[in-house]
Amino acid sequence: MLTATWLFSAGLGGYDSIMQAEVIAIGDELTSGQRLDTNSQWISRELALLGIPVSFHTTVSDTLSAGIEAFRAAIDRADVVIATGGLGPTADDLTRDVLAKVADVPLQLIPDVVANIEARFASRGVSMPKSNTRQAMLPEGSVCIPNPTGTAPGIDMLGERSDGSLSHIFCLPGVPSEMHCMWRETVVTALLAMQPEEGTIRFRSLKCFGAGESAIESMLPDLIQRGREPVVGITAHEATITLRIAARGVNSQACESAIAPVEATIRKCLGMIVFGSEQEEVEDATVKALRDSGHTLAVVEGTTAGRVTSLCAQAMARQQCHGEGMERGGFRGGRVIVPDSGIGGGQSAVQLADQARSEWHASLGLGVGVERQAVDGRTAIDIAISSEQDSVSFEHVLGGGRELALSRASKTAVDSIRRYVLERMVEK
Ligand code: AMP
Ligand code: MG
Repeated sequence: MLTATWLFSAGLGGYDSIMQAEVIAIGDELTSGQRLDTNSQWISRELALLGIPVSFHTTVSDTLSAGIEAFRAAIDRADVVIATGGLGPTADDLTRDVLAKVADVPLQLIPDVVANIEARFASRGVSMPKSNTRQAMLPEGSVCIPNPTGTAPGIDMLGERSDGSLSHIFCLPGVPSEMHCMWRETVVTALLAMQPEEGTIRFRSLKCFGAGESAIESMLPDLIQRGREPVVGITAHEATITLRIAARGVNSQACESAIAPVEATIRKCLGMIVFGSEQEEVEDATVKALRDSGHTLAVVEGTTAGRVTSLCAQAMARQQCHGEGMERGGFRGGRVIVPDSGIGGGQSAVQLADQARSEWHASLGLGVGVERQAVDGRTAIDIAISSEQDSVSFEHVLGGGRELALSRASKTAVDSIRRYVLERMVEK
């Protein structure tokens, strides 16, 4: 099999690869503006963590000629081409055909891939539609990238330039969750194998809530800087901030040793703001805190209209703590008050929290009030926590677009329980 050391000019050592990448996004829904190309952004951030710069993003429609042109140009100017989209079973999914034309090879049906797709349908109790066999047609000479969460396999192949040199192509499905999984399970390892030195990479994601991106950055000592090792990246999604540490080393132990002091620094600087790691969400951390402390929680919510209850119930389901597990603490239930119905609308958040506590016989009640004008004229809600000993209440200003504001408010309410419980556990 062709190895990829050709990607590096002689003499360049360390991790300063000269590999240049290009990202191609394929789909009419992207070029027509119906959908935003988030895959290219995600992939480019991932490539940056691997030290691979991206020179071009190309977005192309589901047309054979446009696809061929895009791949030809990318192969000519980039050492690594990462493409997403067009691998589905329907007639407009042309990426396989495009690649076969670009490499001037036929498409071949791969029996193992057909069997995999059939098995995936069979596990859902349905037989595979005939059109799905298209997904098992790969350009001759290419390698299948397994797709653990969907039917469309990816394609790993080499593209030849006019001067005979090669470019490495990875094609992945457009569905973001499938693409992310395949990236992590296959592509990262392949890209690392192309690095001039033997090595590996490890990631640690620390999840934060309760401060904005720039506030968090300013609380950390120079960690998020270009060229620093380990690399620390910061991303935000609906007020949850993720700090991802990426460390390279000769083996996983070396990576872990490089990550540990950076993680310790972040945790020390941010304290309670760090609520968890990896895939954990704020509500998961809150339910965990409830169970660790033996507290039970119930909610009565106004403006957030069920979002707080939904977050907590989902976290309970994820942690599979129902029924017999309840004596160890957890979320008991919630109720929504509709502001204009006159039922509960006139009550303070503390009263709602008290009601929740007594209605569900919980040790903690969470009350999320209805909208009102804050002193500065902005719209705000009150969030209150009540226990047998005391009750606390604070104002939360609803800023930005409505959906985002409500998502943020709900997470803030859920997070306030985590903080309340953990602060008191420390005091004990
Ligand atoms: P495809 O692999 O072309 O069948 O794409 C499947 C689905 O993934 C599309 O319907 C889009 O919803 C989504 N998708 C495709 N490309 C992208 C992209 N670049 N960014 C975000 N979502 C995408
Ligand atoms: Mg498509």
